[in-house]
Formats: sequence, structure tokens, C-alpha cells
Amino acid sequence: MIWLLWLFRVFEVLLTRAHGLSLRNISAKWKNLLVHMTILKASEPYILTFLYRMMSSAKKSSWNMGLVNSMHDPALLFISTDLGVVIRDKYPKARHHFLVLPKSDIPSIYHVKRKDLSLLYELHLLAVNVIEILGMKTDDFKIGFHALPSMQRLHLHVISTDFISSCLKTKKHWNSFNTELFLDYEYVRNEIEVNGSLRRIDKQKASELSAKELKCNQCNHVASNMPNLKSHLLVHSKR
Ligand code: AMP
Ligand code: ZN
Repeated sequence: MIWLLWLFRVFEVLLTRAHGLSLRNISAKWKNLLVHMTILKASEPYILTFLYRMMSSAKKSSWNMGLVNSMHDPALLFISTDLGVVIRDKYPKARHHFLVLPKSDIPSIYHVKRKDLSLLYELHLLAVNVIEILGMKTDDFKIGFHALPSMQRLHLHVISTDFISSCLKTKKHWNSFNTELFLDYEYVRNEIEVNGSLRRIDKQKASELSAKELKCNQCNHVASNMPNLKSHLLVHSKR
């Protein structure tokens, strides 16, 4: 960007010098160039805005493509098969938090059709494998999808129900796993089997669920805020 502006300036100086020395001697070609430079100069703000928008949209797309990049990150890769990959969640919301992704480019659970059910079944098998490898019980995990995913590429969450993690910070985080904003694998599979695909959640309902009270997932305690909930969760893990 900066170098482009510098290039404009250098051309401008060169042309002004040529202009000052002998305007009459400037060929029609140079005069045309001078006119074009003037137009370019006048459109500088528009060019800048255009380039800025291009850069911010590129940044945005690379941000939500983070999972696809992480599939190739050896530090996060946990299991890889012909059809799918298990990676560690980079910002785990519990002691154990993994994501299972297909190798094929399926953008989200809303793009999964009846014909993809065998792939979904494979991804679920990988999720169960993770728990077995950890030597833990499936009852201590949730396996499912966010109704409002933020990241590109279909991904199945495998998360331990302790929810003890420094990355679990907000009510939105909590409610995304502990209300109907979290869609259990079995529910999703059944919906696709019966209806052919998964229907999107109503926006109004989603924002209500996101703002719901902080109810503990292991007892009836309702926390007044996130710090309260997080210290309450520690009580369960000590048992
Ligand atoms: P979702 O709301 O279902 O789209 O969840 C996306 C998950 O991806 C969250 O649990 C994030 O912590 C996790 N995440 C975000 N960026 C990355 C990344 N680059 N690599 C691995 N996990 C990520
Ligand atoms: Zn509790």
C-alpha cells in the first residue's frame, strides 16, 4: 500500500520537473500521462478505501478459516484418517476439548445432506475414539455442534463436562454449550435423517438462549456471574 503511494509521489515529482523544464517539449504521450496521474491522484481516497476493504475482507476470511489451517498444525493435530481429522481446540472451554472435522470441504452442519450421513457417522466414531484414547467415559463428554458456528468447515465438538478452563470467559461461551445452542450429535443426525438437512435456529430464540441465566450443568445452582459460576464448577470437580 505504502509503496504504491510512494510510486505515485515519485512519478509526480518526475513529471513536475519535466513540466518545469520545458512544457512545450513534453510529448503528447507525457501530457497524457500527466492527465492520468492527476486522475489517479484525485481518486487516491477511493483507491485507498477500496484496498482497505479488500484487505479487511481478506483478514476476515482468514480469521474464520482458522480451523482449516489448524488441521495442518502438528501442535494441534490429534488423529488423522482418510475422511477426517481431530484437532485440539486452540481455546479449550473445558479440561478436554477437541474438534472433529471432515477432510472434504463442507462449510457447516447446515450443508450436510442425507447423502453425507455416513461421513457424519465416521466423524462421530472419531469423537468416541478420542474419549477412548483419553481413557475416559463418554458420559463425561458432550459431542455435538454449535447451532451458531463461528468458524468455517463443519466441526463436531468433543468437550468434557467439567467446563474448567481459563478460556471459558463469557456467558455466551457457557450458554453456547449448555443450552439448546448446543445440538447433540444424535439430535442432528436424526434431524438430517428425517428432514434431509438441519433447519437453522430462529435468530430471536438464539439471542434469548445466549443471554440465559448461568445455570450449572451438574446441579441446580444458578450463578450470578461468570466468576461465581467458575468457582462453583470447581466444587464439582473436587468430588
Ligand atoms: P464454533 O462456535 O462451533 O464455530 O467453535 C469454534 C471453535 O474453534 C471454538 O471452540 C474455538 O475455541 C476454536 N478455535 C478458534 N480458532 C481456532 C484455531 N485456529 N484452531 C483451533 N481451534 C480454534
Ligand atoms: Zn453445580
